[in-house]
Amino acid sequence: MRKPLPQDFISRLRDIVGETFAVDDEETLLRHGHDETPNLKPSLPDVVVRPGDVDQVQRVMQLCAKDGVYVTPRGAGSGKAGGCVAVYGGVVLGLDRLTRTLEIDKENQLARVEPGVILQPFQETVESEGMFYPPDPASLSWCTLGGNVACNAGGPRALKYGVTGTYVLGVDAVLPTGERIKTGRSTTKGVAGYDVTSLITGSEGTLAIITGITLKLLPNPRFVQTALAVFPSTEPAVRSVSAILARGILPRTLEYMDRDSIEAVRVMNPPYRFPANAGAALILETDGESEQGTLEALERCLDVTAEFGAVDAFLAQDAKQRRDIWQSRRLLSEATRKIKKRKVSEDIVVPRSKIPEMVARTGLLGEKHRLMTCSFGHAGDGNLHTQILFDDESELPRVESLLDDLFDTVLELGGTITGEHGVGLSKKKYLPKELGADVVALQQRLKDAFDPRGILNPGKFLPDKVLLHAAKAAAAGS
Ligand SMILES: Cc1cc2nc3c(=O)[nH]c(=O)nc-3n(C[C@H](O)[C@H](O)[C@H](O)COP(=O)(O)OP(=O)(O)OC[C@H]3O[C@@H](n4cnc5c(N)ncnc54)[C@H](O)[C@@H]3O)c2cc1C
Repeated sequence: MRKPLPQDFISRLRDIVGETFAVDDEETLLRHGHDETPNLKPSLPDVVVRPGDVDQVQRVMQLCAKDGVYVTPRGAGSGKAGGCVAVYGGVVLGLDRLTRTLEIDKENQLARVEPGVILQPFQETVESEGMFYPPDPASLSWCTLGGNVACNAGGPRALKYGVTGTYVLGVDAVLPTGERIKTGRSTTKGVAGYDVTSLITGSEGTLAIITGITLKLLPNPRFVQTALAVFPSTEPAVRSVSAILARGILPRTLEYMDRDSIEAVRVMNPPYRFPANAGAALILETDGESEQGTLEALERCLDVTAEFGAVDAFLAQDAKQRRDIWQSRRLLSEATRKIKKRKVSEDIVVPRSKIPEMVARTGLLGEKHRLMTCSFGHAGDGNLHTQILFDDESELPRVESLLDDLFDTVLELGGTITGEHGVGLSKKKYLPKELGADVVALQQRLKDAFDPRGILNPGKFLPDKVLLHAAKAAAAGS
């Protein structure tokens, strides 16, 4: 429930961050009223505040805590679950001016960064020093490391290297009470006390504002090899994924595209021409310290795919051919938009062995609700980006019904409703189904310990405390 800002609040914010960094003009509010979640109703903040340093973040938070003003943290706004949208108005706190890479420590293989650092340039800097920071969400050219930590972002390389949380050794944070804390450590090992770093990682901006991050780095693998294998259907593609892993080969990616995704990509004339009988495809990538070893690992993968009935295989011979292979996958987003005007994109996860059943049942749900669907994603992790394609608003009720059925199916197959995008607003109603009421209640108690007044990113995945407070206040008044 929205409430008006206290008197002079914006001018008090401007005293902290300066005139130009506490803004409430319509254009700015509109720009900050949404993220990249398809079909999410925009919700405008009352003011957008962009502090220039950690002291300013703390002073803004102290002011909001004193006056009970809601605060919603925001990185680049590339989220796909509505996490940085201020559902009840108040302050959107942009962390995009905190962009310093404070330290890259080669000897201890770690980096200290501010939250507004953009992922891709950071990776390039790290690689220029001979090290490697693996998390690779497809939004890497513009998402922030703060947003990555808040969402525990993943990407294709998570199969071998894990998600963002694997690399977060510690965070500096400002709590909703205005206190500053430092969690974690600078060592790869350490088990002192509760793991508050991991609790804040993936908390989607509901527990604390991340103002600094200590990241573990790895040595940069010297060689990478990429191939694409095409199958007549999903079943043999997924069976070969399991067989590759069972034979002790750990590629860094095993990306999957179903028949409908391949058909969608054909519209874009991709550099790799899929054969007419393509019913599924895998992009396989290996990396390592020796060129020969990396190539041999990939060839062993291709032997497995052939054993399982691959109808075509293409091994990239140079960097251009590698880019061409990935282009087929990257064109998917644009391709689906050419087929239908609108889409919903989910990131469900099922146990790997259940992918064929999940893909088949998604197709049946599409037929049941008269909607077009396709699935692609990180087959090695069981993480599928299921797309529901449609043309206009009138179809939204059918989309909603399909989603209800989809998430029921995911949970029935032992999966989870989100592998990397987070719960935010868009999957809020499904969370209790996955976690159960007792675990949701425990999560609420944890949230209360961090944020007793419920002012940080209200209205997101936990039960709606703001509405609860309003109902209590109304009852007390009546
Ligand atoms: C084309 C596209 C492809 C994508 N591909 C992937 C993918 O492959 N894998 C994947 O995991 N995600 C993917 N995403 C989703 C998104 O890019 C990631 O979740 C990313 O981590 C969000 O970063 P951001 O800086 O944009 O955060 P925002 O969208 O601004 O915020 C996301 C959440 O983090 C919180 N937050 C942001 N900064 C802070 C902070 N400093 N302190 C506390 N909370 C904070 C916000 O409140 C919000 O809840 C994709 C998105 C797009 C548009």
